[in-house]
Amino acid sequence: MEYILSSTAQEAPTSECIFCDMQSAGDDRSRLLVYRGERTMAVLNKFPYNNGHLLVMPKAHVSHYNGLDEATFAELHQLLHKATNVLEESMRCHGMNIGLNYGQVAGAGIPGHMHYHLVPRWNGDTNFMAVTGMSKVISQHLLDTYDQLKPLFA
Ligand SMILES: [Zn+2]
Repeated sequence: MEYILSSTAQEAPTSECIFCDMQSAGDDRSRLLVYRGERTMAVLNKFPYNNGHLLVMPKAHVSHYNGLDEATFAELHQLLHKATNVLEESMRCHGMNIGLNYGQVAGAGIPGHMHYHLVPRWNGDTNFMAVTGMSKVISQHLLDTYDQLKPLFA
């Protein structure tokens, strides 16, 4: 409900890429930008599949691995490792889905800016709501999740 009533829900996108836009100076918390590295960053998904759903990506607007230099590739995978530790420590999840929708044909929502999805999983997290109601219950407010994860990335 908060999302529906908020003004940002009706805002039109200001440029081609939200991941590039959110890197400008401003309020990282309201953008859900939970970690800024030198070449990479981590963002909470505004439309989470599950509590703690993180996106890990290069800062550069790059669609494919071959657009990454070696240092960015290395930092990206170090951050992926760190993010799994943060989620396990903070959310006490039992497992995780980690994936990359590589290209539009593979389902990438923002195909021009590659990003890994990290979706924490708990035993029994798929229940009748998802199966019969086609709805997913997210048990924690996004900004509470942000506040929980932010210090662990520092
Ligand atoms: Zn971009």
